[in-house]
Amino acid sequence: MQVNTIGVITSGGDAPGMNAAIRSIVRTAKYYNLRAVGINKGFKGLVHGDIREFTARDVSDILGRGGTILQTARCPEFLDIEVKKVAIDMARYHNIDSVVVIGGDGSFRGAKSLCELGLPAIGIPATIDNDINCSDYSIGFDTAINTAMQAVDKIRDTATSHERCNIIEVMGRASGAIAIQVAIACGAEAVFIPEMTEEERPDIIKVITDGIKRNKQHFIVVVAEGVGHSNELCEFIQSQTGIVTRVNTLGYMQRGGSPTVMDRVIAAQMGEYAVELLIHGVSNRIVGMKNNRVYDIDIFEGLEQQKEVRRDLIELANKLSV
Ligand code: ADP
Repeated sequence: MQVNTIGVITSGGDAPGMNAAIRSIVRTAKYYNLRAVGINKGFKGLVHGDIREFTARDVSDILGRGGTILQTARCPEFLDIEVKKVAIDMARYHNIDSVVVIGGDGSFRGAKSLCELGLPAIGIPATIDNDINCSDYSIGFDTAINTAMQAVDKIRDTATSHERCNIIEVMGRASGAIAIQVAIACGAEAVFIPEMTEEERPDIIKVITDGIKRNKQHFIVVVAEGVGHSNELCEFIQSQTGIVTRVNTLGYMQRGGSPTVMDRVIAAQMGEYAVELLIHGVSNRIVGMKNNRVYDIDIFEGLEQQKEVRRDLIELANKLSV
């Protein structure tokens, strides 16, 4: 089937670089003389016909902006087949014959169901947690880890001045990808992530008491959100070591901000790749990164894959904190 109009959706949690991906999709579509439309607020916008025309100029000056100009929303009702059929009818009504969905696993499940109902779709991974199994990289991760690194560096400055221990909770419910990278980048004394085995988990009291003996001035402990219990850990450290300990939760600041070079360039590459797949009549695919190259994989197969935990990075973080 020939492609004439490509719809762009951002869905699930927002991530810096989503705008760069939108721009790339729209500009690539224009390069091939195709029509591009933006679908606002995730699958909700498709169901309700919240759709806008995109010219090449409409995506000017968005490269450097965090978030997504299309906004994103969760649309739980999209699991209902009748609601999906409404979305398909709405796409037909607006002459949308294919869509690119920028988001995470849930969004790809939505994209897959559009394909099953006859609307060709492609997924592009964008999550700050880098937790898309079939892709080495998700748009937004590099910006998020750089933002978190800068915050931790600043907290370390004040921790040094006051001889304190700071527990810094970073985002990542099921994935410790942000925590482990930030811990290594900031020279944290210890890091806790959900994927750690019992043996990999640091003996925090020993780390701190040994450090005090060596005249260490401050301690930074990075904890992934999914590990939880940061307040209990704080009380435990304080009671066992006597060192003043505080919890800092970085929270949503990690999602925002202007995307890094890496996020902009990868978003540009993935956007172009997605449009070219559709032009070649290929759909139901996730665009991802493998070995520093953009590639594509069947959505079902991609969702089934398991991501290998970076045990080498866990080991490295533990080694360097001695
Ligand atoms: P993410 O894409 O970041 O993983 P969610 O899991 O919240 O975020 O999914 C985003 C949206 O994708 C949901 O609000 C829903 O509209 C759609 N979605 C999620 N799972 C499915 C599914 N199994 N079938 C159809 N649509 C889905």
